[in-house]
Amino acid sequence: MSNLELRSVKKSWDQLTVIHGVDLTINSGEFVVFVGPSGCGKSTLLRMIAGLEEISDGQLLIAGADMTNQPASERGIAMVFQSYALYPNMTVRDNLAYPLEMAKKPKEEVKRKVDALAEKLHLTDYLHRMPRALSGGQRQRVAIGRAIIREPNIFLFDEPLSNLDAELRLKMRIEIARLHESLGNTMIYVTHDQLEAMTLADRIVVLRQGRIEQVGEPLTIYHDPDNMFVAGFIGSPKINFLPAQVVATRPGEVQLRVADLGLNSLVCPLQTPLAEGTTLWIGVRPEHFCQPQEAPEAYRFSAPVTFLEKLGHTNYVYLNVGRDEMLVAEVRHGENVVLHDAMILGIDPATVLLFAEQGERLR
Ligand code: ADP
Ligand code: MG
Repeated sequence: MSNLELRSVKKSWDQLTVIHGVDLTINSGEFVVFVGPSGCGKSTLLRMIAGLEEISDGQLLIAGADMTNQPASERGIAMVFQSYALYPNMTVRDNLAYPLEMAKKPKEEVKRKVDALAEKLHLTDYLHRMPRALSGGQRQRVAIGRAIIREPNIFLFDEPLSNLDAELRLKMRIEIARLHESLGNTMIYVTHDQLEAMTLADRIVVLRQGRIEQVGEPLTIYHDPDNMFVAGFIGSPKINFLPAQVVATRPGEVQLRVADLGLNSLVCPLQTPLAEGTTLWIGVRPEHFCQPQEAPEAYRFSAPVTFLEKLGHTNYVYLNVGRDEMLVAEVRHGENVVLHDAMILGIDPATVLLFAEQGERLR
């Protein structure tokens, strides 16, 4: 069932248009993550959904009803921000109870709901404390609790974890995922962190300069990106892009020259017909390079190692292939890799992604 629908939604401030017509349908109970670089319009879009920002053009529907011009209070939405302002002079219990007291709920019901929620958020032992006596993660849980307690239909998060340190971020990420599992309501979560997007989302919406670049399940976005922007934004270390030229074509395949790697006949699957001589881009994710013995001779290349990251569970090898950007390869068993030595790697053409010169994916 569709829970929320954006139809050609636009946002302008005077002459400046920052959201250029977004169409999106979010299903009931879905966890959707808006991801994109800073300034691409994630917060603006979320604030328009919440009713904190006017929609300049287009339509917003919630559960089938037109909410485009309805005030925030009518939308059944709660929002958690990056800076979680708690009432500093109220205990955790009073902070959690406040939204219900404002709604004039009976005392008995307020107590029951606060106790149940505190249990769910592991805050039972802290109910009597003041916010200043809590850790960052505990404060964030109170902020989340205060939004949940009103039982909104839709829950919005704007970069709620970006003020926390790495370890706590991981912990809270897991808690938010569990919370979604137990509450089952629709959540829209904004982040610039592709890892949060990959791990939390049922579906990811990749935004760039006020436009949707791609919508899809995390693994679809990762393995089957629609363009170079999406391929480059999702994945860390980043996918490698190299220019290539079409040497010959056959039905269902293309033979490429990749000058930077000294390859002349890399044969990749491709349905789109291309003319000989066409320039395009190949994209190879760091984990998709293989050991030389796993690739035929024609698919092997050699390059000097200019930088090496040994992480224990894996290794990232940075190779100089004569471009500004180094090539990054993940080498699982790289104990013998030596800095500044030449290293031979192979390419598996089945894993290579192809992109047109302008960045659109070629399939
Ligand atoms: P994100 O959350 O993805 O970092 P924002 O939605 O905050 O991006 O901002 C998108 C664009 O809209 C930015 O270029 C920003 O400068 C602009 N913007 C945001 N709020 C306003 C405002 N009140 N007036 C004018 N421009 C704004
Ligand atoms: Mg923002």
